[in-house]
Amino acid sequence: MILGGSPVSPVPAMTIRERYLAGLPARDHEERERYDEYDAASFRAPAPEDAYPDFAVLLGPAGDRDAALERRDLPGMSRKDAARWAAANNMNDLGKLVIAWMAGEITQTPGHCGPPCAETIPLIPVLTAINRVGFVTESSQRAGARRGRTWNTWVCGWASAATATRLREAAAGTPLEMDACSRADRCGDCPREKCTSFWADACPDVAEDLRGAWWVYVEDPEPGRNDVLWPALARFADREWL
Ligand SMILES: [Zn+2]
Repeated sequence: MILGGSPVSPVPAMTIRERYLAGLPARDHEERERYDEYDAASFRAPAPEDAYPDFAVLLGPAGDRDAALERRDLPGMSRKDAARWAAANNMNDLGKLVIAWMAGEITQTPGHCGPPCAETIPLIPVLTAINRVGFVTESSQRAGARRGRTWNTWVCGWASAATATRLREAAAGTPLEMDACSRADRCGDCPREKCTSFWADACPDVAEDLRGAWWVYVEDPEPGRNDVLWPALARFADREWL
């Protein structure tokens, strides 16, 4: 998985999470963004559930809501990016924000503390196409090989029941393997719940849609191969777009 970004040095004396817990005031915008860059190593560090108060509880009357969203601090994310994600109203908006992130307009996603990895760059056209038609991608991996090790390609994210069905149709008759689960499934080590909680926290108006969506995982079981999954997803996106 490529969740959480890669460790970068130097590691600061205090992480954003520690600053948050210590009640220290947020830094100014520019300094905060620089700080975020080298906070990647501590992003998603384990913490007790009650370390974060429910953001909804902190919100005042409706009139204060937008201002509160502008001021909020998400661990590992700049305020500028947090405001963009918080403004999302529906799953379509999330797809557009993922596209904006891949285009470099947004630096972080709720689950990835940084811009797209180098391995993702060649996938941007097809990932853009599938995010445009209702498959909101959370993470992906391109197949590759290094130092005698070979790995496979996969993509995961959220989709409506109808979109998940058409993804399954697109995978039918290919060697691709697809899993889809919903909150009703309560699967144990599945990343759905964790990823959904990060995104729901960052996008409060889409939280219920995210929780109600299908978590879809499509992979090519054959290591080292990129020419089955991505063409199949491109065909899926083409059909959806028509
Ligand atoms: Zn699952």
